[in-house]
Amino acid sequence: MRVVVVHYHEIALKAGNRGLFIGRLMGNLRRATGGCGVHGIRKQSGRVILKLRRDADWAGVRARVAEVFGVANFALAIRVTPRLPDLERAAREGLEGRIFASFRITAKRAFKEFPLTSQQVNEHLGTFVRTLTGAKVDLTRPELTVFVEVLPAEAYVYFEKIPGPGGLPVGVGGRVVALLSGGIDSPVAAYRVMKRGCAVTFVHFHSHPFLDKTSQEKVDALVARLTRFQYASRLYLVPFGEIQREVVLGVPPPYRVVIYRRLMARIAEQVAQKEGALALATGESLGQVASQTLENLVVIDAAVGLPILRPLIGMDKDEIASAARAIGTFETSIIPDQDCCTLFTPKHPVVRSTVEEIRRVEAPLDVPALVAEGVSRAAVREYAFPPARAG
Ligand code: ATP
Ligand code: MG
Repeated sequence: MRVVVVHYHEIALKAGNRGLFIGRLMGNLRRATGGCGVHGIRKQSGRVILKLRRDADWAGVRARVAEVFGVANFALAIRVTPRLPDLERAAREGLEGRIFASFRITAKRAFKEFPLTSQQVNEHLGTFVRTLTGAKVDLTRPELTVFVEVLPAEAYVYFEKIPGPGGLPVGVGGRVVALLSGGIDSPVAAYRVMKRGCAVTFVHFHSHPFLDKTSQEKVDALVARLTRFQYASRLYLVPFGEIQREVVLGVPPPYRVVIYRRLMARIAEQVAQKEGALALATGESLGQVASQTLENLVVIDAAVGLPILRPLIGMDKDEIASAARAIGTFETSIIPDQDCCTLFTPKHPVVRSTVEEIRRVEAPLDVPALVAEGVSRAAVREYAFPPARAG
């Protein structure tokens, strides 16, 4: 019987959240592998076991599980009863067609009542495999490792341990509203908070019809990509052009970018309230551009009551770009677009604003009305992964 043995990091379980963590991990694994032929999920002695149908799509399962947060590593295993003859049979079955000159057995015993120690299992199966194949034992640099896990009622034999992404299962950490531009940084920021267990709702501000729709198309593709990591997403598309026009009428050029950011944060905060989110997230990193000096970040923070998470705060652009490549958002992010902040924006924004100064500059604006307008005119889109019909 083929199963997938999923290991998670015990370290995350210290806070007494074990049940919540495992329940969510199992739910996410079930959702992620939808349509791939998994027909049962259960927990077993600190592992999660996925049962595969005979016709299951292992390549599909493998690709999906490799992206489920909370998974430390996993393996396609042969499941047998925990008895030596059955372990031998599993080893023989699994080794069929494999060519290797050296190997080792790495056995782990998850319960002490098993009559043999791990070392005895290693020696017994080592002799068995050597006799069967003629390959030699090499403990330090084996061409093949035969992993054996012995549990009270069953044992698993496998040959490849596949790394998972780590992190915490999405959904155990509350909800965050992520401000998603079409750029490189904010998708990485959203990914980072998802990886720490937070579900994300996305908000994008666009300046259509003043500018074209490229940024919305990019964000649509980015949210679709990021939904692979949390299975269901909602995107709010907020028309921002009219709001920017109001800002232009009342605010001197150098202050506009910071004022735009404060308005975006306030609108996102209203969305957060609707969505039951506890924080906002942006792709800002310290000092990257004029609007991201420490002073300006303080001024943006002062516009809202919710905390603004900035997971990229200490990262260089290069580091962020390679993270974007790894999660598959980079190619979309670099498509040229007309970002809303290029509209009505001066070349030299204020680098060091203060809260008092900004409040004075903002005074001519009817902020509550602008925020209400942004929220009420937002279009909402839903995303699902895998697509709905898979089961
Ligand atoms: P990014 O690569 O994410 O666009 P950036 O380095 O270009 O970031 P800015 O353009 O200053 O930096 O934006 C800072 C952050 O503000 C973004 O990471 C994003 O979270 C948010 N933001 C900026 N523009 C928008 C927008 N049009 N819609 C939603 N959020 C935005
Ligand atoms: Mg940008």
